[in-house]
Amino acid sequence: MSKPCIICVAITGSLPTKENNPAVPITVSEQVESTQEAFEAGATICHAHVRNDDQTPSSDPDKFARLKEGLETHCPGMIVQFSTGGRSGAGKERGGMLPLAPDMASLSVGSVNFPTRVYENSPQLVDWLSEEMIRYDIKPEIEAFDLSHILMAAQMHKEGRIKDTPYIQFVMGVKNAMPADKDVFDYYVATVERLLPGAPWCAAGIGAKQLVLNEWAIAAGGHARTGLEDNVRLDRDTLAPSNAALVSRVAEIASQHGRPVATPAQAREILGLRPMAA
Ligand SMILES: [Zn+2]
Repeated sequence: MSKPCIICVAITGSLPTKENNPAVPITVSEQVESTQEAFEAGATICHAHVRNDDQTPSSDPDKFARLKEGLETHCPGMIVQFSTGGRSGAGKERGGMLPLAPDMASLSVGSVNFPTRVYENSPQLVDWLSEEMIRYDIKPEIEAFDLSHILMAAQMHKEGRIKDTPYIQFVMGVKNAMPADKDVFDYYVATVERLLPGAPWCAAGIGAKQLVLNEWAIAAGGHARTGLEDNVRLDRDTLAPSNAALVSRVAEIASQHGRPVATPAQAREILGLRPMAA
């Protein structure tokens, strides 16, 4: 199989701190620097949250604006994807940065349990976020924490409520949500192929499951997500020295499976995004 593999790097997230791993980028300048290394190692999507200086999650559009500008300068052609995930704020605060018109934004289309709380995505909020993404020409990445989220994405696509073919991210290994279960993973892939033929998909595993999901996704012809948001370790005893180190590990797995790492231009074409700025 020679289909290029898109590598997404989830650089920061809303949970890991410097205490977990000093390489987690917190300030915007740390984020740009960490992403640039990851970009040079082969990542073509940067999935980003922003933080306050005390490392708590933020939803400040101003920080997102500075991050976008830094990434566009230092990582030309890289796909910028902002998180609209729920730890950064409540309700519409979560979409406050969408007027910045990043290439992509994450979109959760249903609720699920997280380690210590309910990750709440009401139908009203999902509708509002997806309408804003259409308004600003942003491609959503559907975060599938559960099978029902894949079926919801297909339904929204059918009704014209999301911009063109959905890009689906299977998320496995979040405590209290869907574990990394191979039969379920295979069924996710089959469900995307059945309901959304040809739609590209990606997979993310949390903690030690990151490597497992990277292997499964690459072997099955999907795309792969890595990064310190999901996992701060290379193995049980070793902290990942950088986001780039995790990206290099994925590039190596892709090469073992005979899959080239997608260039920014290829990734944009696969996802149906606007071409790189000249
Ligand atoms: Zn995230």
